[in-house]
Amino acid sequence: MDVYQTSQNLIRELKGISPRDLNRAGAEDLIAALTPVVAFHQEKYYVEDAPIISDGEYDILFHGLVALEEQFPGLRAPDSPTFRVGGAPLDRFEKVSHPKRMLSLSNAFDNDDLRAWYTRCKKGVDLDDENELDIIIELKIDGLAVALTYVDGVFSRGATRGDGSVGENITANLKTVRDIPLRLASKTDLPSSLEVRGEVYMRKSEFADLNERLARQDQKVFANPRNASAGSLRQLDSRATADRPLRFFAYGVGPSSTEPPETQSDGLDWLERLGFAANKHRQVFKGIEGVIEACNLWIDRRDALDYEIDGIVVKVDRLEYQRVLGFIANAPRWAIAYKFPAQETTTILKDIVINVGRTGAIKPEAVLEPVEIGGVTVSQATLHNEDYILSRDIRIGDKVTVKRAGDVIPQVVGPIPGARTGGERSWRMPDTCPACETPLIRLEGEADYYCVASDCPAQFIRLVEHFASRSAMDVEGLGSKMAVTLVENGLVTRLSDLYKLSPNDLVQLDGFATKKAENLLAGIEASKSQPLSRLLFGLGIRYVGKTTAETIVQNHSSMSEIGDASIEELVNIDGIGERIAESVFDWFQNDKNRELIDDLATAGVNLERLESEYVSSTGDSPAAGKSFVLTGTLASYSRTEAGEMIKAAGGKVTSSVSKSTDFVVAGSSAGSKLTKARDLGISVVTEDEFLELINKKL
Ligand code: NAD
Repeated sequence: MDVYQTSQNLIRELKGISPRDLNRAGAEDLIAALTPVVAFHQEKYYVEDAPIISDGEYDILFHGLVALEEQFPGLRAPDSPTFRVGGAPLDRFEKVSHPKRMLSLSNAFDNDDLRAWYTRCKKGVDLDDENELDIIIELKIDGLAVALTYVDGVFSRGATRGDGSVGENITANLKTVRDIPLRLASKTDLPSSLEVRGEVYMRKSEFADLNERLARQDQKVFANPRNASAGSLRQLDSRATADRPLRFFAYGVGPSSTEPPETQSDGLDWLERLGFAANKHRQVFKGIEGVIEACNLWIDRRDALDYEIDGIVVKVDRLEYQRVLGFIANAPRWAIAYKFPAQETTTILKDIVINVGRTGAIKPEAVLEPVEIGGVTVSQATLHNEDYILSRDIRIGDKVTVKRAGDVIPQVVGPIPGARTGGERSWRMPDTCPACETPLIRLEGEADYYCVASDCPAQFIRLVEHFASRSAMDVEGLGSKMAVTLVENGLVTRLSDLYKLSPNDLVQLDGFATKKAENLLAGIEASKSQPLSRLLFGLGIRYVGKTTAETIVQNHSSMSEIGDASIEELVNIDGIGERIAESVFDWFQNDKNRELIDDLATAGVNLERLESEYVSSTGDSPAAGKSFVLTGTLASYSRTEAGEMIKAAGGKVTSSVSKSTDFVVAGSSAGSKLTKARDLGISVVTEDEFLELINKKL
């Protein structure tokens, strides 16, 4: 059986039905089909650390089975995988019995699930309508659960969760984890025996470094930080574990010889005093509404963390209430995991195509069997570069994991070797440019290959697209498709040709009605009066981004002045380094480029600095000299417009938040940048406050 395909078919079937629609016979068939598949995935994930579907896909199968069994309790087999916690411990480790079972968590997928859970808890502890429960929320760290035993303050045994009752003794490996204290910190009030529970995980940045190191050594890279943590912890040789950047967050007090503090929140504070790292992002709320708000906020904030979380764990804070509420088969009643919408799924890699960028950089791109992630259909994803593909052994025809997080371009995370059927094909970077057949070159120390032909049509199409883009000349109606049409039909062979287009040229093209031609020509005409810095940026000179172009224009008032500037003069501009200066200088040394500027002048394109783009004195606005980051959607201005206002007031705009940021302007649905600003204590201003700041003169 091709379990991958069967799983996809079952996921499709489950998405299309509600268990209530099924009669007993239909449910029996579906349960019979789901049971071995869920058990198979549990084995792959918990025992082999090599899942073949994403967590989101597994959750659909698992919760589908749970829902069917709830609807038809008589059909729940005594050995149903829904009773299980984790997987059987591996034989190669000594087995350890947990004095108190280590459980899984029930899941909430939306606000209603959280409210229903809260109502059940209140009822369970007999609380009337007047009173609310204290609820603590903690981040659900995506790692591996372990239990650490301390005897007389000394770390004496560490174990995996295993099947919840019996785990694996991995003490030697856990001793190498830097955040796990070998001896408890406190000298007083130490229990003679204490079990601490928590999650071993890997930071995203350290995981990336590890993968890079493994790739350099021609070793297999890990698909994600969780797999890397699990694989590293279950090494037979603890020296191999010591070499991995593992970390630990404590999240609970297990059996203890003395009474632990009375609440989960006090328990975590106590663990910190004993020398453990407990995650700081914990909060206690009265009632459930604040919890819901916080859980929803974390959906956007999670990408700003340097470790992966797959949800929020919501717990009743008082231990006395926890004891009253007790457990169901494999999870406590007093806690629930609010699961985030999935950012990853799996699909089939149909092909790998080559994209030639405007600088000639060659980027491999994945053509995918279309798949939905977070409400968006993804059919293309980046594969970064050749090394990325080869170090992960990504093959055409592979089932692959695809990730789409926040605003970031979707990427192929890696293949699922366990789901291969044998027909997959390895891929190699072609020797020549697919557009002009010039041999590709790769410079020492660079990950990308380049097509260095100056007349490569693919690069030129990208250049036209860039020239017309919103941040450059902003030509209405000239997007990537139009750029292809104009170049491939021979109407535009250099940028200045855009200004020579006539209605006649255009109407003979396929799909070009008079109106469309008029609109395009009007857009091109309007672009003639764009500010000089936009034109300079639009020329696509290597290393000259938008901000660099603006900086140069602050110091040189016309295109001819810029073209005549020496390398020294350019380097003397604050913010311009040697690499940029040389690139600008070289560009203007090229006769064809000089001709292009002359042609643009003849066409009537503005080549002078506009008064509006020159900041004469920057000292008279509170924004002068300040660094801004824009995030979220502003109601009255586009981000580009707001950026221009900041620059006009003498401030500068950067794309990421750092300690040197002065203000973060937060529009609606601001995400990770806002979180980071708050974490760093940077001033966050609303759109109105921003407008006041920018328009105020000192
Ligand atoms: P769970 O991960 O949903 O919840 C329990 C675990 O949460 C605990 O064991 C603990 O390790 C962890 N946790 C993290 N932070 C915590 C905190 N602050 N407080 C308490 N616990 C915390 O349950 P589970 O049964 O371990 O595993 C289910 C997960 O595994 C799901 O995400 C599921 O998608 C995934 N899974 C995937 C596959 C697959 O094939 N891809 C197969 C099986 C399971």
